[in-house]
Amino acid sequence: MKLKVCGMKYQDNIQEVATLQPDYLGFIFYEQSARHFDAHRIPEISNTIKKTGVFVDADLDFVIKKISKHNLKAVQLHGNEAPEYCKQLRGKNIEIIKVFSIKNEFDFSVLKLYDDIVDYFLFDTKGKLPGGNGYVFDWTILNNYPSTIPFFLSGGIGLSQIDDINKFQKSEASKYCYALDVNSKFEIEPGLKNIEDLKKFKNNLTSKIMNYNVNEKGYYGEFGGAFIPEMLYPNVEELRQNYLKIMAEPDFKKEFNQLLKDYVGRPSPLYFAKRLSEKYNTKIYLKREDLNHTGAHKINNTIGQILMAQRLGKTRIIAETGAGQHGVATATVCALMGLECIVYMGEIDIARQAPNVARMKMLGARVVPALSGSRTLKDATNEAIRDWINNPVDTHYIIGSAIGPHPYPDMVTRFQAIVSEEIKWQLKEHEGRENPDYVVACIGGGSNAAGTYYHYLHEPDVGIIAVEAAGLGIESGESAATSVLGKEGIIHGCKTLLMQTNDGQITEPYSISAGLDYPGVGPMHAHLAKTGRAEFMSITDNDAMDAGLELSKLEGIIPAIETSHALAIFKYKTFRPEDVVVLNLSGRGDKDLQNYIDYFKI
Ligand SMILES: *Cc1c(COP(=O)(O)O)cnc(C)c1O
Repeated sequence: MKLKVCGMKYQDNIQEVATLQPDYLGFIFYEQSARHFDAHRIPEISNTIKKTGVFVDADLDFVIKKISKHNLKAVQLHGNEAPEYCKQLRGKNIEIIKVFSIKNEFDFSVLKLYDDIVDYFLFDTKGKLPGGNGYVFDWTILNNYPSTIPFFLSGGIGLSQIDDINKFQKSEASKYCYALDVNSKFEIEPGLKNIEDLKKFKNNLTSKIMNYNVNEKGYYGEFGGAFIPEMLYPNVEELRQNYLKIMAEPDFKKEFNQLLKDYVGRPSPLYFAKRLSEKYNTKIYLKREDLNHTGAHKINNTIGQILMAQRLGKTRIIAETGAGQHGVATATVCALMGLECIVYMGEIDIARQAPNVARMKMLGARVVPALSGSRTLKDATNEAIRDWINNPVDTHYIIGSAIGPHPYPDMVTRFQAIVSEEIKWQLKEHEGRENPDYVVACIGGGSNAAGTYYHYLHEPDVGIIAVEAAGLGIESGESAATSVLGKEGIIHGCKTLLMQTNDGQITEPYSISAGLDYPGVGPMHAHLAKTGRAEFMSITDNDAMDAGLELSKLEGIIPAIETSHALAIFKYKTFRPEDVVVLNLSGRGDKDLQNYIDYFKI
């Protein structure tokens, strides 16, 4: 359930409350209210919090002006606004919340008139003035709720309601309850909220309203941030200040979507794997990212970042790569846009990954060997960072997973979020519902997983399963099972879970799959692991290889070995026959053919 804090008035208090990451913050544009928001502007707050304007029978022009002035993401209509009135606010890229006040009874039939017009209803207690009365109405009235439009529950909710709310959440009446709306019970005076009480409230409802998105400081819970050398600060800061603005530009969205469609080949199918489902006696859907141009999900991110780089006026692109997959995806988009491309790669990796090196060269990229240290990914990353420090003006650094300093993990996640955006409507077509029972993905740095989970993070009925590489076994010393073996540390500019020795030296990871061979996980995943929102499983090389062969034989799809790890969970976890499990098929197995051949002696 989401949380809305309403009736915000004071600048410092707004910013303080924003650090608690409620989903909505409400500003009342109604002069008669004691919480009337009359300040000139709303201070800068995280854009994951939806700024909501509350109006009472206001002039439409007035509402529209406030929307654009304060960049509101939702309007809450607290008066007797008719359906026709609400209709005129549609198409303005804004959520419409229509309020109804309930006394001891309520005639729900009036809601019908607002079907297909409003996004949410909000039920408040009927009192002298609209809102902020401090009384709770009898929630059992909602047992008769006849609509499927989600609603906000409001009216006198405070700390003393926690038990009632937890009970209510289990009841049938809460089925369409989307959010809790709190106001007067958390106030020191009208419009001034008590942070400690709000914190207590949030913590006691944690499982339902925890935030899994990045906050305005770049953190997922305790993980994330930007731990970078001073000299890199201007580059990262330029990106941080601009990335959300640029992504929100209509022209950017249009070009991104067009390229995803015409160049990448999206939407990728959501395929019901019949024979695999029969074998494991549950319903398994495969999200076919393997069918994307270049054979994996990585292109979604590089397309997004090259468009970002162009809008930031950059003409030179750098990247680092381990196995070469991200290098190829980067070289591809640079060729597409005619931009200079330099890929740093460890000398050892260059020798191991000859076909990908050849691909990058054919696409016009320069592959520069990293000659220091272990001459693998970590050293290539150091070279790329050095390059960026030396070329701060004309160069953009394309990071290939949901890792790195803020804003990279969030930016990459947003570009990959197209995966779960499509799953939602595709599953609706197949199953009549948007939410599966589980989403499953393999995790290297965590970009395909982040995209698969993104639109389900705050849907408590969707289980999240993250699959790591156990290599030769978790206890073997040869693995990449970060969630089990990792401790908090800093890698590539962010605080996350990291495999390291007792004195903080990064441990060399191992997996048969090059894409999962990474000693950390992205900060979002560290947070999902720590909070228990995601279930982490580790799969050995052997189990992954068997699962890859099994999918080939059962469905005629040869998966990338990374993906094979995710497929192997069915051997260990039993799902119910009626469960719908969506697994992200992150890539195709062509690149791994030699590996499969050697392993199975085909
Ligand atoms: C790179 C890669 C991965 C791992 O990277 P994430 O950022 O964790 O998604 C997984 N599958 C395939 C096919 C890959 O190429």
